[in-house]
Amino acid sequence: MITAADIESRLAGLDEIGNGPDGFSRLSWTLAEAAARAWFEQQAERLGLAVERDRAGNLWACPPVPAPWRAVGSHLDTVAGGGRYDGALGVACAFAVAGELEAPVAVLSFADEEGARFNTPTFGSRALVGRLDAAEVLTRVDAEGTTMAAAMRDAGLAPEGLAEASAGLGRLRSFLEIHIDQSRELDEAGLPVGIVTGLAGRLRVAVEIRGEADHAGTTRRGERRDAMAAAARLIVAAEDLAPGSDFVVTPTRLLVEPNALSTIAGEVRLWLDARAPAVAAVDDWLRSLTDAATRIAAERRVEIALATASRSPGTPFDEGIRRALRDGVESLGLPGREMVCFAGHDAGVLAERIPAGMLLVRNPTGVSHSPRENVDVADAAVAANALAAAWESLG
Ligand SMILES: [Zn+2]
Repeated sequence: MITAADIESRLAGLDEIGNGPDGFSRLSWTLAEAAARAWFEQQAERLGLAVERDRAGNLWACPPVPAPWRAVGSHLDTVAGGGRYDGALGVACAFAVAGELEAPVAVLSFADEEGARFNTPTFGSRALVGRLDAAEVLTRVDAEGTTMAAAMRDAGLAPEGLAEASAGLGRLRSFLEIHIDQSRELDEAGLPVGIVTGLAGRLRVAVEIRGEADHAGTTRRGERRDAMAAAARLIVAAEDLAPGSDFVVTPTRLLVEPNALSTIAGEVRLWLDARAPAVAAVDDWLRSLTDAATRIAAERRVEIALATASRSPGTPFDEGIRRALRDGVESLGLPGREMVCFAGHDAGVLAERIPAGMLLVRNPTGVSHSPRENVDVADAAVAANALAAAWESLG
């Protein structure tokens, strides 16, 4: 059996890497990432796995048998000021599983999952499935003005080979990921582990509201064309139109012009993020929101334009893998609880092309992307043992 102490000792090796007063910062293509890579190499070497770094910077610990392999893994990068477990827990558990099983196990750590530096989330997994626009991402710049191409070169990679990373997909039969629960769902259910049925459908809506900038004091109420007041009504409508507790809407970004203390806002750009287990519900919501926008625009004498900035239909995980994971959890005497995951993950990207699945581990705070994220490693050991138990029935 995989013990909590086993997982804790693996994780402890990452504790000093990129750790500062504000939490963990292991951004892509940095020295902290290189140190995490050295940890990965050490872990692999102890298990007799051969390490390869592909064209996208994904790390592979390969078993000494010909591909294709079943793989387990997650990511070692973090957001700026992140926590100890998001990503790292899954890679530590993957090595524990590889150490426990007789069968060949490949361990993967995907590059730049958080995409925190260049706004390129799930970079490595998208490169692997051939869904990354290499030419576009390489010209992106970080806060210091460094292009991604230059950053990758600094990290010892040849960015011109990025598009070739997809050749590696054929080496995988399936991919499994253990990840910290980013909600309190498991904690509230009193369960250490949950099986993910799929990733939620997601829609990002970009809104442009045009009114008229004018004096905040002298403009009479009936004459105002206040873009910010209209935005406020639209945000309220977006929330009110969300059906049920598993439909989440977030106004994520607001840009106001002229953004001055004594001026009615003439122009607002607003972004809304909506997610639900089924994307059809999100599409219905957008239709209702469009009607609401038309009404608000007429009432408030402004123009409102809604545009879909991005839409993901959500990814269901492979039925056979879900069943195997459920059996694995139940073989430990625990209920095999299934749940929808509302965040993006590498396993969700791989699920577009190969059988994939995920287990989530209880997080008492429900917080992630913060030093406040928390996991009892005993719960992580339960997840790792469930995954190991599922291995045989994966076929
Ligand atoms: Zn993560």
